[in-house]
Amino acid sequence: MHELSIAQSIVDIVQANLPASGANLVKSVKIKIGQLSGVVPDSLDFCFGAITHGTSLQGATLDMEKVPFILKCRTCTTSFESEAGIVLCPKCGGTDTEVLSGTELQVVEIELYDEHLEKKTG
Ligand SMILES: [Zn+2]
Repeated sequence: MHELSIAQSIVDIVQANLPASGANLVKSVKIKIGQLSGVVPDSLDFCFGAITHGTSLQGATLDMEKVPFILKCRTCTTSFESEAGIVLCPKCGGTDTEVLSGTELQVVEIELYDEHLEKKTG
């Protein structure tokens, strides 16, 4: 299951970036998913929820930003959004293209609950 290993890497990255106290609960994790990464968001969300149960990431929401597949034509320097697998420049018809975005899968932001809001005084 592709998404399970991806969810695990996301958890690993988040835990590596958590403050040393370990007392902070993660509110949300923002990730970027390139169109070509082949990730099914619903499936990833499910796996993330399953493997974070009982950890400091329990209940954290996975905020997924989809990144379109963008190519740049080396011949005429046009940048264009493309369907996966199609590398034909719409302007000059060239196939000498380079990938600008769409293959990434990265954690971009980790939001923690504000500890001060969690503590009740009096
Ligand atoms: Zn072109």
